Order: sequence, then structure tokens, then C-alpha cells
Amino acid sequence: MSNTTPGMVCAHHHLYSSLARGMPAPPSTPTSFLGVLEQIWWRLDQALDLEMIRASALLGALEALESGTTAIIDHHESPSAIEGSLSVIAQACAEVGVRVMCAYGITDRHGPDGAAAGLNENRRFLAEGGRGYVGVHAAFTCSDDSLEQAASLAAEFGTGVHIHVAEGPDDREAHLRLQQLSTSDWLLIHAVHLPTDHGLAGTIVHNPRSNMNNAVGYADPTRFPESQPVALGTDGIGADMLEEFRLAYCRHRESNLAATPDAAWNWLSTGWNLVPEALNDHVRWSYDQVDNPWAAAFTPGVAAQEVRIDGEILLLEGKPTRVDPLEIRAKAKEQAQRLFAKL
Ligand SMILES: [Zn+2]
Repeated sequence: MSNTTPGMVCAHHHLYSSLARGMPAPPSTPTSFLGVLEQIWWRLDQALDLEMIRASALLGALEALESGTTAIIDHHESPSAIEGSLSVIAQACAEVGVRVMCAYGITDRHGPDGAAAGLNENRRFLAEGGRGYVGVHAAFTCSDDSLEQAASLAAEFGTGVHIHVAEGPDDREAHLRLQQLSTSDWLLIHAVHLPTDHGLAGTIVHNPRSNMNNAVGYADPTRFPESQPVALGTDGIGADMLEEFRLAYCRHRESNLAATPDAAWNWLSTGWNLVPEALNDHVRWSYDQVDNPWAAAFTPGVAAQEVRIDGEILLLEGKPTRVDPLEIRAKAKEQAQRLFAKL
């Protein structure tokens, strides 16, 4: 039993959504998952500019550090400000000191030119030595040609594709279009409506809070074969991975009274296969049994007190050492107001 762990890994984040909290209500109340995308997220992402993206990424990275999360696997979309966006995010995370793997989620929602611009941003970032995946929004918003190009770009750079798969019923057929493309380094996000015998290679990333929030159903990751890794993400709702672990356990238990917290702990631990460097990071927590799944599952509010990344102390007594959290929050508030005014 210990009060320390390696750095936590958030295997699916949207740093661009850090400014979304408190946004104005949509013009009409969504009644389906597609409605949530259309009324909320696709209006928000279109309004983003590079200044907002920077403020949003700084806030998200700060919140990750404060939660003991030292590595973020990010999935980004900002159709009005594509070029350079991944570098803005990487730079913001570097300032806070948190590791990030970036991806631009390509889509044909804005025509073939939009998809090409997204693909180019992935290529530019990776070619300049950026660390990340090739992002795809989801099969149901992409042409076959875009999916093939994303897969071959990822292979060219020796990385995987980071893609939402069967989050809602509209993407139920995704596996049929991705079967010939996926490889073991892909990240398959959500998999709520993915059949158990889907035939896709890659790590499934489960996001329990987001799935509940969008009423899309339960992914039940235990139904997939043991050979298929499962990791945990937040889908943009912060980066508190101990909390996501507790929620993952709770949701699992709700579907099966025999469930134990070990399954959710294993999902949390898969993050270290995706970003092994986080194993060299060091977090000291406010609780002396943080590494015991049964104890951690029933102890809400455990806080990171000290975080060391690559040997450097970046959080000391719960306070970041490199950046001023008040300044980051003030800037985020200012940019959130600009963003809300554009919606
Ligand atoms: Zn997502």
C-alpha cells in the first residue's frame, strides 16, 4: 500500500473543450447523440481560433497536472483554425510541463478541402517531429478515401489512428469500413455500439462519464476478448483519472453486481502501455492506499500533492511550479467569453 503512483495517463481528451463549461444553451435541446454533436460540439469547434485553443489547452494541461495526470492523448478539431493548431496545443502543454500526444480529427463534414486541411495538419505536425497520432473524427463523417488516407499517413509515420468508433447509433457500421485498415496501434474511442466480434485491431478507450452524459449507452468493455486492450479516457471532461476510474468501476458494477474494481484499474493501467514514459513520472497523493483498487474506488477526493515529470517537480504542495494557475484561469475566462459571444 502506498501513497504514490506513476503519472496517470488520460487516453482520450479534447483539450479544446476546456472552455465549454458554462457555454450558452443550444438553440434547441438535443434529443439524440447526433443532435448533441450538431447543437453543441460542432458549433463550438467551428468558433475556435488559435488564441482560444491556446487558452483552452493551457487550462486543460493545468487541470491534468493538478489531478496527477502527466500524459494526455488529445484529439483536436477546430475547422476554422486548422493549420498550426496542433503545435499550439503541444506548446501549451510543454509550458505547463505535461506530456501530450496530439491528433487533428479529420472529417468530410466541411467537404473534401476540409478533410485535406485536417490531414495536412496531422502531416505537418508529425513531419516536424511532433508526437501523436493521425486523428479521424469518426467513420460516419468521413469518406472511404479520407479513412484510407488517414490510415496510410499513420503507417508512414509509424503511428496509429486516433478515431471515435461507434459512440452513438449513427456510427454503428464503422467497423465494416475500418476492418481492412485498423492496426494494433490504433485508438478506438468509445466502442459503445461496436459489436463484440467487430474485427478491429487497436486499444479500445472507454469514457464512462462522457457516455453517461450523452446517454449513448454502456460500452461494457469486459465483453471484448481479453487480447484487446482497454484504456480509460475522459473525452474532454477534465483529466482526473482517479475519478474516471471510480466512475468506470461504478458503471461496471451497475451492469454487473459481481464486478470488482480490478477491471477498471486494469483499464487505467493500460494508459502506461500507450505512454510508457509516464511510468517514470511520480505522483504523491493525499491518500496512503491510492494503489489499492478496492480502497481507491471508495475514496473520492484523493488529491495529487506532488508531481514529478522526467525528474522535475512540477506540482508542489498541490501548486504548479512553472505556471501561475490564477493567470491561466483568468486568461481562460477571457477567451471563453470571446468564444461564447461567437456561438
Ligand atoms: Zn472524444
